[in-house]
Amino acid sequence: MTSKYSRFDRPEKAQNLFLQGARVLDPRRGIDQVMNLHIVDGVLQKSVAEAPNGADVIDLRGHWITPGWFDLHVHLREPGKEVAETIASGCMAAMNGGFTGIACMPNTDPPLDDAASVKWVKSQAKPFPVEVHVIAAATRGRQGKELVEMSEIVEEGVRAFSDDGGPIKSSAVLLHAVEYSNMLGARIFEHAEDLYLAEGGSMNDGEWSTRLGVTGIPTIAEAIDVARCILVSEYSGGAVHICHVSAKESVELIRAAKKKGLRVTGEVCPHHLLLTDEMCRTFDTNFKMNPPLRSEADRQACWEAFLDGTLDVYCTDHAPHSWEDKTQEFDIAPFGIVGLETAMGLALTQFLSKGMDIKTLLERVVYAPREILSQPVPAIAEGELANLTLIDPTHRWTVTPQEFKSLSRNTPFGGWELTGRARGVVHRGFALIQVF
Ligand SMILES: [Zn+2]
Repeated sequence: MTSKYSRFDRPEKAQNLFLQGARVLDPRRGIDQVMNLHIVDGVLQKSVAEAPNGADVIDLRGHWITPGWFDLHVHLREPGKEVAETIASGCMAAMNGGFTGIACMPNTDPPLDDAASVKWVKSQAKPFPVEVHVIAAATRGRQGKELVEMSEIVEEGVRAFSDDGGPIKSSAVLLHAVEYSNMLGARIFEHAEDLYLAEGGSMNDGEWSTRLGVTGIPTIAEAIDVARCILVSEYSGGAVHICHVSAKESVELIRAAKKKGLRVTGEVCPHHLLLTDEMCRTFDTNFKMNPPLRSEADRQACWEAFLDGTLDVYCTDHAPHSWEDKTQEFDIAPFGIVGLETAMGLALTQFLSKGMDIKTLLERVVYAPREILSQPVPAIAEGELANLTLIDPTHRWTVTPQEFKSLSRNTPFGGWELTGRARGVVHRGFALIQVF
């Protein structure tokens, strides 16, 4: 690595940057080749063989460069719980994980349910080379009763509404929300959960919940709501996106809906692809999330659906919680785990070795999330704004939660040995290149 490398260990202006010798991958443009990228004032120039005079040369031989990764499901805890995460710390965690864009959920305190709060979040995120898109609340105060002022919020660039943290309980409100958001070119993101079936539960309902004596959340608590959303989508013609799919029944419903040509999409998180409810046996609350870790059959079904595109998006459901909150008894501790800083390493280590190719992975984490959010997809081409994720695919590292940029440490992947890590990001005229 050249000495210039360390100058970018915090975001610096990409005034004249020469990224040398990486394998550049932009599948939508048919690009998979070793080449140099020259960036001037954040804009990609014509690829040249030699570093232009005065350029900061970054030796990226053995690295990959892809269009910027995007996490469609993130919880920042500001306003309300800044001890767990702020907008700034969330952006730092995103960059550290290789993401140039994130979509944050509205279940803050107070919830992001009007144009002013959306504007405020975006202003806080301005100094970072990470775009923060707000998924606004679908109903006022996330109370499930009255729709928010969707048209005013859409004017702030919002293209998704959700009461995530929970479902939109009333089917009448859900139908109106889907109809109205779709008229505005936006869509509903549903946290699919039947609250009656899930009531009191802390983990998946199954063999392990019985053995452990913990109240379970059945898979059909999720799938019943997925079925409801699909019916609403079919009836109204509106698009619906299903968040964090975890259950085999949900996968089957979404697959059938897609076969019918309905406008239904779905996302899946690393923990539902890699872990099962057996992990709850130690009562470690880092294995407690909602939806919960499911059975091996559910995990398999999610993996197949992720491979074949039934589940369109790879996202984290990054849900930071303070040590004090998470260090309680299993049934009392809050649901959720952090994910921004482990998602890439897990994907490169666990997915590519199990039959997913890099093109498909990029489809799920670069292109599909932006399309579902009605955002343009970045391209690696002369004249385009540089929106890049730099990856060292062979770097071996151990997940060390104490080193996270996130203010929270609640990960079930602590101590995992991973191969492949984000070297940095280039976006919004800035470059961040990590030294490790
Ligand atoms: Zn959720």
